[in-house]
Amino acid sequence: MAILVVGSFALDSIQTPFDRIEEALGGSATYISLAASYFSGPIKVVGVIGEDFPKEYIEMLSNHNIDLEGLEIVQGGKTFRWSGKYHYDLNVRDTLFTELNVFEKFDPKIPENAKRSKFICLGNIDPVLQSKVLDQMENPQFIVCDTMNFWIEGKKSELLELLPRVNAFIVNDSEARLLSQEPNLIKAARIIREMGPQILIIKKGEHGALLFTDDTIFFAPAYPMENIYDPTGAGDSFAGGFIGYLFKTRDLSPENLKKAVIYGSTMASFCVEKFSTKGLEDLSTLQIQDRYRQFLNLSRFDE
Ligand code: AMP
Repeated sequence: MAILVVGSFALDSIQTPFDRIEEALGGSATYISLAASYFSGPIKVVGVIGEDFPKEYIEMLSNHNIDLEGLEIVQGGKTFRWSGKYHYDLNVRDTLFTELNVFEKFDPKIPENAKRSKFICLGNIDPVLQSKVLDQMENPQFIVCDTMNFWIEGKKSELLELLPRVNAFIVNDSEARLLSQEPNLIKAARIIREMGPQILIIKKGEHGALLFTDDTIFFAPAYPMENIYDPTGAGDSFAGGFIGYLFKTRDLSPENLKKAVIYGSTMASFCVEKFSTKGLEDLSTLQIQDRYRQFLNLSRFDE
């Protein structure tokens, strides 16, 4: 049994106030699977790339025990491209362009040996494709779903059809406000949970993340970092750490969900330290445990 990750594989062009990079490895499935790979391999992925996707990226992902059997390569096709620009306040990002390319005609096919996966992470892609993935699964146990303003604005009704089918939904604060049409995040969380998912996580960038379940609101801080080079993929790395830890422990209790949120934040903090996926490529279990413990110390105090 392995986690099944579905999402985008991308070539990202990113500008921050400090640097810029062209056509670097990106995509929701890339970040999610890399982050999750530190908890339990192999990770099975489903996605699509064009012929132009560099071979070294494929090798790097395979070396992380990421099973690429479900990655379709479209001959003569162009890989999905995305470009983003971060403001001086790194929580604010403008999308400069989104080129769907091979995603426009993508029809996800889950490999036979992945259809019985129990833990599924639907990375940010078209909600219609996310639903098509779920249609092919046999008896999934825990479905985590991420999305983005692009789909909330462009495919809201399709997203609303998908939400009752997922267990945990992850969005950032501006996406939560956009989806619920409610500025207050606590009220927004109630509205979104009424759309279907029992578990909702609202990420607030460098201000941490909120976990909402039936009877709990849990707040996890973000790791206070002096050097944030590239916030791209932080949300996906969070999702990867979150599902990776839950899969490893096979424990979906409210207390364990809180730990999973901290592991999610831990992986996001490594992601933003370097450009593209570099911050997730060479980690050790010891480094992850160390940072997890530092998270615990951040909000521990004596009564
Ligand atoms: P995050 O910073 O966690 O929101 O994720 C950024 C990643 O999402 C980038 O690597 C992009 O390639 C990818 N991405 C951006 N827009 C889309 C989209 N509309 N569909 C799928 N993936 C996207």
